[in-house]
Amino acid sequence: MGLLFVEVLPRDATGGADVLQCRRCRVDAASVGAILSRDFQGRIGRTYLFNRVVNITLGPNENRNFRTGLHTVNDISCICCQEILGWRYEKAYVESEKYKEGKFILERTLLSKQA
Ligand SMILES: [Zn+2]
Repeated sequence: MGLLFVEVLPRDATGGADVLQCRRCRVDAASVGAILSRDFQGRIGRTYLFNRVVNITLGPNENRNFRTGLHTVNDISCICCQEILGWRYEKAYVESEKYKEGKFILERTLLSKQA
């Protein structure tokens, strides 16, 4: 196994629970303050939408049909434990879904919140 460069997200100075981590290995994944939407349905429950997540690797392009139509997505995996935490929208084919391109979905049940 090569060297892993793990990015640590800034913590809220007031000590609030502000970082979401991979539940399996507890590496930082995203900031609570960076959540764009909490209303998406994932493979295994509800999800969060983000502009930016950290400590992930992107899988190959795959076409997937959601309730909102066809999208090209990449699965995103934790760099430490390889758990698939969600996906990235590479391309949306329905005009009303274009805003999701380049954004990331994380499955809530695969995350833990660090206070
Ligand atoms: Zn992990």
